[in-house]
Amino acid sequence: MNILVTGGYGFIGWQFIQLAKKHDKVNKIVNADKLTYAAINAPLSVRKNNLFHGSEDYGEFVKTCITDAFNVQWIIKYFNIDTIINFAAETHVDNSINSNLPFVDANIVGTSCLLDAAKQYNCKFIQVSTDEVYGHLEPSDAAFSENTPYNPRNPYSATKAAADHLTMAYGNTYNLPVSITHCSNNYGPGQHTEKLIPKTIHNAINNKPIPVYGDGLQVRDWIYVQDHAQAILQIATSEHTSNEHYCIGASNEITNLQLVHTICERLDVLRPRIQGSYKDLIEHVQDRPGHDRRYAINSSKMQQQFNWQPQTTFEQGIEKTIEYYLK
Ligand code: NAD
Repeated sequence: MNILVTGGYGFIGWQFIQLAKKHDKVNKIVNADKLTYAAINAPLSVRKNNLFHGSEDYGEFVKTCITDAFNVQWIIKYFNIDTIINFAAETHVDNSINSNLPFVDANIVGTSCLLDAAKQYNCKFIQVSTDEVYGHLEPSDAAFSENTPYNPRNPYSATKAAADHLTMAYGNTYNLPVSITHCSNNYGPGQHTEKLIPKTIHNAINNKPIPVYGDGLQVRDWIYVQDHAQAILQIATSEHTSNEHYCIGASNEITNLQLVHTICERLDVLRPRIQGSYKDLIEHVQDRPGHDRRYAINSSKMQQQFNWQPQTTFEQGIEKTIEYYLK
């Protein structure tokens, strides 16, 4: 397989590349990334030289926006790509609430450009979507599954939903082999500090207030990033995945407040404050407008079809994550 990974210097794309480069079926990996502020796994050499194209230990890197149809088509032809996995996106909900146009551009127009290229060169296409396209759940609701109707409730998830609809439409109209993944909240190494877990650790050890939205009782279903990357790799390397949706999660439902408490308690042991607990830094701030209350994922289809299981318990994963950010 010659795989185009878009957004490969972001949080999840980077973990995917680390796994994919070791897989027997993978011949070549090309990482197309615009290097936005979120591309925190890009090495300094790539950032500093403002490189357009270079060889990296995992394969090739091309700096491009996925909305640049000419570049995207050139990459697919030049590198003989047969599979596209689209991780590239604007991903921070708060930013989408402040200004959504960059999200429309990257998430909808960008996906459309990639789909056109996939159609032109008959590539398998995997859209890395999110569970947020399904909206949110009440405490007693069953977890999201592949049959849950779309109901995006913030600008970010609305752009992801639009991209998903385009993806399925290309599958149906042009007979393109497409699939879409819907994963819950990821955590682990290499995530930008704008996101909850790295922000909590960063603020705590810098003695800054730790913001918690509203009452902090929003429930998220956390999965270790490598387990998500592994699920996508299994879908990508399988031959039977056309026109399918896959829900991916690890059944770790935790409130944001519980999560922040857990991190503070671990930090109290690993790097104690001179006085008091890191919990003293917690500050409840005004809630995000339209904040989704609960997400939960039923990943039984992934488990049955691919024998996929998350390998990392929350306790193991959060320990590794805290140690990573402390380093
Ligand atoms: P991220 O924000 O960490 O990284 C995004 C990457 O995409 C960056 O490297 C950035 O430079 C690149 N990028 C952004 N716009 C681009 C463009 N127009 N052209 C080319 N590259 C561009 O994102 P992430 O957390 O790794 O998420 C990856 C994908 O997984 C996204 O599509 C997201 O919607 C989805 N997802 C994320 C989570 C999560 O918890 N992080 C959960 C479910 C699904």
